[in-house]
Amino acid sequence: MSDCVFCRIVMGEIPCAKLFENERVLAFMDINPVATGHVLVIPKAHSSNIGAMSDCEVAAVASALKAVAPAVMKVTRAEGYNILNNCGAAAGQAVEHVHFHLIPRIHGDGRGYRWITTSADPAQLARLASEISKALL
Ligand code: 5GP
Ligand code: ZN
Repeated sequence: MSDCVFCRIVMGEIPCAKLFENERVLAFMDINPVATGHVLVIPKAHSSNIGAMSDCEVAAVASALKAVAPAVMKVTRAEGYNILNNCGAAAGQAVEHVHFHLIPRIHGDGRGYRWITTSADPAQLARLASEISKALL
């Protein structure tokens, strides 16, 4: 898509700090990193979300994340990492070309992880699991 910033990066029309690529996947440094070593892993083919990707592309991206993560950890001396996919504007997705953030983490790095958890009724959990299970395509 000509108006997609990540497609333009794939095409070489916009520069990026590339660290990995193969036939299906590109990985490059996020231009506004949450932490030093923040990497984006994307399928080269445009899809807006994971549900629109082929199973082959999903597998290729997962393999790339598996390969890239330990290299990022080694170089940044991180103690862990977050892999994050914001899917949809409501979830914070700004670029409509599916991408996976790989964010190195160190104890006490102050980046936080502030989901507000709740307690749940076991019966409600069972009902939801049943409904979601039936909704699987
Ligand atoms: P989102 O909020 O959609 O999950 O994240 C989009 C990410 O893409 C942001 O972290 C942002 O910094 C990154 N980004 C947006 N435009 C560019 C760009 O032109 N080059 C690079 N390297 N990263 C970008
Ligand atoms: Zn795109």
